[in-house]
Amino acid sequence: MRVLIVEDEPNLSRQLRATLEGAGYAVDHAANGEDGHYLGSTETYDAIILDLGLPEIDGLTVLDRWRKEGIKVPVLVLTARDSWSDKVAGLDAGADDYLAKPFQTEELIARLRALIRRASGNASSELTAGPVRLDTRSGKVTLDGEPVKLTAQEYKLLSYLMHHKGKVVSRTELIEHIYDQDFDRDSNTIEVFVTRIRKKLGPDVITTIRGLGYSLEEPRA
Ligand code: CA
Repeated sequence: MRVLIVEDEPNLSRQLRATLEGAGYAVDHAANGEDGHYLGSTETYDAIILDLGLPEIDGLTVLDRWRKEGIKVPVLVLTARDSWSDKVAGLDAGADDYLAKPFQTEELIARLRALIRRASGNASSELTAGPVRLDTRSGKVTLDGEPVKLTAQEYKLLSYLMHHKGKVVSRTELIEHIYDQDFDRDSNTIEVFVTRIRKKLGPDVITTIRGLGYSLEEPRA
């Protein structure tokens, strides 16, 4: 899962980035509204964390522009403390959730997880595919109840596929959702990760749909 942080406070940005990367997200960051708007319009994200008080273009305007451009990505707005008018304005502009500063990063991550889960149509925080279970809260994966250790990239890839179980996901889509902007992207590495995941979780967990991509279940004809 790939997340964009649009936040101008350097310390908070660094902290958020480190926490989210530690929780298995690919993270991009923009420090002003103009860069944030551009990234959100041109790159693919599973969720965006958007501060409202931003240099260049304020957060509400950025959000309003994205929604007018038809960008539907879930957006969590960061508001000034106790500013009910900010919350109302944020929700009116198309925010999916909000959090008032200062906040606990655990709460931010929990809300983000819920946003991403709802956007992909998953009601539970535990995702299953046959004998494989992935707990999005702990980041733990089990096979028939036994813990399996995945690398960060393997986890990102499996997590994306499990959030989109039953759909065919192309290599391009995977690349867009598991790497941040600065990563040297190579579609061949996707095949390498899939091979490694199959070694750990069994050959049938991920189905290759020739010419189209990968799926966690055979798609219905
Ligand atoms: Ca700010």
